[in-house]
Amino acid sequence: MSDLRELYQQVIIDHSKKPRNFRKLEDANRTAEGHNPLCGDEITVYLLFRDDVIQGIGFQGSGCAISKASASMMTDSVKGKTRNEAEHLFEKFHQLVIGEGDKAGDPGDLGKLAVFSGVSEFPVRVKCATLPWHTLRAALEGRGETVSTE
Ligand code: ZN
Repeated sequence: MSDLRELYQQVIIDHSKKPRNFRKLEDANRTAEGHNPLCGDEITVYLLFRDDVIQGIGFQGSGCAISKASASMMTDSVKGKTRNEAEHLFEKFHQLVIGEGDKAGDPGDLGKLAVFSGVSEFPVRVKCATLPWHTLRAALEGRGETVSTE
């Protein structure tokens, strides 16, 4: 298990140092901002959402390694997905990071997002990991407001 944990940590560090899709999406038609006051994480999610599909996604912001890596991997994971598919993935991801992943059925759905399973041991980090997803949800709903984890 410790080898796996080390691998997971490496993936998270890699994504936090070289986040994917870390840019403002110029043709975005939806955006939302998220804020985690507990840790100081801030994120803006840009979406090109058309025909019920996330056709393009980017993000910008600053924060801890967990929030950045989570945002990076989230953008990779939801691109090309419908809103329902993205919501489903968020539910599974949320169950994973609060330590209820086993009850969520097939963990295979999560794919590489499984690297965040260790977060469940650090409750204070759960909000860091889920902030990008809450912000994505707000963008999908077209709410022009800032979401806060508090
Ligand atoms: Zn954080």
